[in-house]
Amino acid sequence: MTPVFTLINQKGGVGKTTTVINLACWAAMDGQAVLVVDADPQGNATSGFGVERRNLDACVYDVLIGDDNAVGVSVDDVIVATDVENLHLIPATIALAGADMALSTVLARERRLRTVLESVKNDYDLILVDTPPSLGILSINSLVAADKVVIPIQCEYYALEGVSQLLGIINRVQSQLNPDLQVAGAVLTMFDSRTKLSIEVAEEVRQNFPGHVYSTVIPRNVQLAEAPSYGLPAPLYAPSSRGAKRYYALYKEVFNNA
Ligand code: ATP
Ligand code: MG
Repeated sequence: MTPVFTLINQKGGVGKTTTVINLACWAAMDGQAVLVVDADPQGNATSGFGVERRNLDACVYDVLIGDDNAVGVSVDDVIVATDVENLHLIPATIALAGADMALSTVLARERRLRTVLESVKNDYDLILVDTPPSLGILSINSLVAADKVVIPIQCEYYALEGVSQLLGIINRVQSQLNPDLQVAGAVLTMFDSRTKLSIEVAEEVRQNFPGHVYSTVIPRNVQLAEAPSYGLPAPLYAPSSRGAKRYYALYKEVFNNA
């Protein structure tokens, strides 16, 4: 069965999107058929793959609202190819910002994304979902659709802020909506080996979640930050950069244990 991995942390700017883009790109370059779902109205995963949001007629929003959707958009109409071979995307436009409201009257609204993905799963080897920095209906949908959760944690002050709340939500989703959901692990991002703070935060996270933190740590790396402005994932923009290489190691670590 095609695994669905959701990258989530309601804290903003911790590296969720960067991690989704890089893991997805390495998986595709490794020959896997990959689908990325951009479940964030900011659409950073969409633009990070060079997909022009203003040229899109439909996005994940249209398939999430499903039968209530008067124009009858099917998921196949929404999936777009990217410049990365083997890698397709369900993009997000700003329309997704209205999802909370629009889904409020939809039956089984927490399961919409799961239902949508079930209809396309057979076409892919791996599905990755990028989530917004909030715990609203889009994040819940992304957890209900997932087999595994990966939690990016930025090596900065307040790194663990909100993580216990997030684990509480994951527990509730497990008990009420998706009993098979598993936390695969946490990944430390934007690590700067020159600062004591990064080292301390990394130690603190490992103490809090013994055995659940990936040994691959993502460094702070300028090429990772630059790549999205060229609409390219780092493995294509700067394949020999430290950031891209470390994401390859993370790819191996995350998916060999999948
Ligand atoms: P949001 O919560 O807004 O969706 P996010 O958790 O998806 O944010 P990203 O967008 O991946 O976080 O990263 C936040 C910013 O930090 C971006 O500008 C990104 O390019 C940059 N960034 C992410 N990871 C790194 C890194 N390892 N080194 C340097 N810059 C990084
Ligand atoms: Mg993001």
